[in-house]
Amino acid sequence: MPRTAPPGWLEVWLEAGREGRTFTYANPKALGIGVGDLVRVHLQGRPHTGLVVATAMACPAAMEGRPILSVEAVLQSAAVDPHWQALLEAVARDCHAGLFRTLKSALPPGWLGQARRAPAGQGRVLWTVRLNPDTGVVATHPRQQELLDHLASHGGARLLRDLVQEAGFGRSLIGTMERRGLLLKEAGRGPLKAGVGGGDGPTPLEPPQRASPAQAEAMAVIADAPPGQALLLWGVTGSGKTEVYLQAAARELAAGRSVLILAPEIGLIPQLLDRCRRRFGAAVIEYHSGMGDAERVVAWRRCLEATGQREACLAVGTRSAVFLPLGHLGLIVLDEEHDASYKQESPMPCYHAREVARLRARLSGARLVLGSATPSLETWWRCQSGPQGLPGDTRLLPLPERIGQRPLPPVRLVDMRQELVDGHRRLISRPLMARLERLKETGEQAVVLVPRRGYRSFLSCRSCGEVVLCPHCDVALTVHRGARAGGQEGREWLRCHWCDHRQEMGDRCGHCGSTAFKPFGAGTQRVMEQLATELEGLRLIRFDRDTTRGRDGHRRLLERFAAGEADVLVGTQMLAKGMDLPAVTLAAVLAADGLLHRPDLRASEQCLQLLLQLAGRAGRGERPGEVLVQTYSPDHPVIRHLVDGRYGAFLAEELELRRQGGMVPFGRACLLRLAGPTASGTATAAAALAERIRPAVEGAGWVLIGPAPAPVARVAGRSRWQLLLHGTGLATLPLPPEGDLRRALPPGVSLTIDPDPLDL
Ligand code: ADP
Ligand code: ZN
Ligand code: ZN
Repeated sequence: MPRTAPPGWLEVWLEAGREGRTFTYANPKALGIGVGDLVRVHLQGRPHTGLVVATAMACPAAMEGRPILSVEAVLQSAAVDPHWQALLEAVARDCHAGLFRTLKSALPPGWLGQARRAPAGQGRVLWTVRLNPDTGVVATHPRQQELLDHLASHGGARLLRDLVQEAGFGRSLIGTMERRGLLLKEAGRGPLKAGVGGGDGPTPLEPPQRASPAQAEAMAVIADAPPGQALLLWGVTGSGKTEVYLQAAARELAAGRSVLILAPEIGLIPQLLDRCRRRFGAAVIEYHSGMGDAERVVAWRRCLEATGQREACLAVGTRSAVFLPLGHLGLIVLDEEHDASYKQESPMPCYHAREVARLRARLSGARLVLGSATPSLETWWRCQSGPQGLPGDTRLLPLPERIGQRPLPPVRLVDMRQELVDGHRRLISRPLMARLERLKETGEQAVVLVPRRGYRSFLSCRSCGEVVLCPHCDVALTVHRGARAGGQEGREWLRCHWCDHRQEMGDRCGHCGSTAFKPFGAGTQRVMEQLATELEGLRLIRFDRDTTRGRDGHRRLLERFAAGEADVLVGTQMLAKGMDLPAVTLAAVLAADGLLHRPDLRASEQCLQLLLQLAGRAGRGERPGEVLVQTYSPDHPVIRHLVDGRYGAFLAEELELRRQGGMVPFGRACLLRLAGPTASGTATAAAALAERIRPAVEGAGWVLIGPAPAPVARVAGRSRWQLLLHGTGLATLPLPPEGDLRRALPPGVSLTIDPDPLDL
């Protein structure tokens, strides 16, 4: 209730009310509240969670003479440190998102809710089960051994809850093993305990490799770089970038500074974690969306604790890990920096982990190492300096050669037009067939990229030619085969890759009522089938989103492939990323055309990156590799650049095109995406929003394009419209605060502001 002589004032961010402003509350002395605490307060008669962002001795002038409520309870003290808060403010500003929204998105899911339920010091106990390194006891039952192996593959420890709920081990089994001394059960802290580099596990740590001259040079430059400096480690695939990260990390850790290593996808995390744990012990912290909420909270707490004790940590994760609350950060590594998965599309803030990492490095004085074999145009541009506004704020470190001087694999094109002329109408060309046939003799392996998963890309009606669409989205349904819950093996059914709608094949054409359909385009399933019938005895594994579900899905399949259980891995784009398998000597692309012709600003860049990354999977071992590309467009510029392997020349050409068009990075785009239950309601809301922002946008010299229906105008039953803003220079967006725009919309219509969209 209103106080007369409060001991001080607190500025609090609240989810409620206008975004982008703080609320003033009185600071009850007894609670000892400070900046960074999560607190409970009341606003307009309702309880809310808030974050204390500032304290003041004097009452803010605006609040003079008005009644001020007190903070009621501390939910979590020191939830956020000041440098972290500054980062959030910068991200919120750059992404044009509200502060509390940004805070919520940065914290682990459930953190705010959990803090509300469990006040500081009384948190629900989370039990962690870990391997007992000192035990002489051995497992006496296969299930016991399974649990030990499971823990070992998770760095030696997991939450009890996850062992039971996710991995399916019984509590009684765990209890028995604990009593026998095989396992240790610990309360209240995360699985990661040992000091970095402590090597408390049963296996000794692996020593660093002897650096090649190029690696040594890169490491020296990183070590000497001033705090906050960004560097681009441009190393062809297999050039030893990861080794550079690890040695740079070791240096920082030895100096008592923390290190954060990011990878774009969950599928790349196991491999990276393994390498980090082999080098630094089990204490490496893991953080990504494949983990349960409770596990993420534990990892987050672990970072806070380590920061409190000024202990250096190494954390490995996907894009959300860029927000981990690590203090005294010395190094941030973003591997595969060109990867679009670093971008958050929704919900807001639509941040790019690379840009957040840049901000974070500057604010905390950490060095930022961006690594890639195929750098993004944006990052490469930042390495250029000179006139014409080139930024030159990122230092380029080249690793031009593969380790052991292994050559990059040559690219062979198969002109599919010629295959047709010669009367060969198959999916798999004769040269690829011949190459695959030879695999078994030599004990080599191949990866085959198919742009789409499923069996067929789409169905069209034989009578009227209409494509069969999803009833909820404006996209074609994909034909899948078998493996449907309750379905029969080999039976075909339809599925939407946008909303996951599923339906039977047999329905009538929605236009003419015909029941005869013709399938087009081949997905991974059909390619598997064709390979199996045409090349008898060839062993295949399918690697796409349907076969790699679950936390360990990628790892399991890759381990089977690495162990030689198959000759060919047939998969989608995820094939191209990061795997290091020495027996793979052939990388093939079945229908490059499906990748080439997309109407997007970054289509060429992303396609060439994908193909070069795929090429990088071949010939990493002793035996030389080869890349085989089937295409109907052998003269396409992307294919030409792929063949001559001069990615730098491509970037220079592409940058010139962008300059002429005034496009990113020379201009800036911002996309406002609206979605609502009806097409007309959403269109009206979009038009009203356009009129509302037009004066500010045009007043700033920006252009407003639209409103227009989104490229896919309906998804999961929601109509989508968009407004595009385009401006020159990198000035701030000429838009009112997010909260104001949102409030101007009719109920049911949602808004996402994407200030630097990857897909236009
Ligand atoms: P990248 O990350 O650039 O693809 P990696 O770091 O994975 O490359 O290195 C490719 C392979 O070369 C790995 O098997 C790695 O262990 C090995 N390697 C890396 N650096 C060295 C080195 N200095 N000496 C010997 N082998 C190395
Ligand atoms: Zn029809
Ligand atoms: Zn759909």
